[in-house]
Amino acid sequence: MKTYSKEEIEALSDEEYDALSEEEYLASQVVLLNSERDTYVAQAEMFKEEAATLARESEPGDVQFDEESGEGGNSTMERERDLALLASHLATVAEIEESIEKVEKGTYGICENCKSAIPRIRMRALPYAKLCVLCKSGSVTRR
Ligand SMILES: [Zn+2]
Repeated sequence: MKTYSKEEIEALSDEEYDALSEEEYLASQVVLLNSERDTYVAQAEMFKEEAATLARESEPGDVQFDEESGEGGNSTMERERDLALLASHLATVAEIEESIEKVEKGTYGICENCKSAIPRIRMRALPYAKLCVLCKSGSVTRR
């Protein structure tokens, strides 16, 4: 079994991706999942730091930092936006980790609603997808 790097996976055509063995496909999805997780964790860290900085700046009587932020506007609103982004990124990280666990459990790539196998093309584009396209579009109108 060949282990593909992220670059190699991205270079494969949809047909080539479909032709991978199940083992190679799952290993490749884990590579994509880990990479996505790293990205989201790094971004979450960034929002967390930004929110912490804004909290420090808005506290009166605190040590004044001579920062050239040049940012005007409402820092409370900015902080709330950062915290909202932080929360959504952490939720995505949790979904990604759940997907990695599914690979280990052997339930990866199965639609949580209709239990059908989600096409590799979709899983490649969204490695932590939980629903097939049909259930996904259906759930928009139902909820
Ligand atoms: Zn489905």
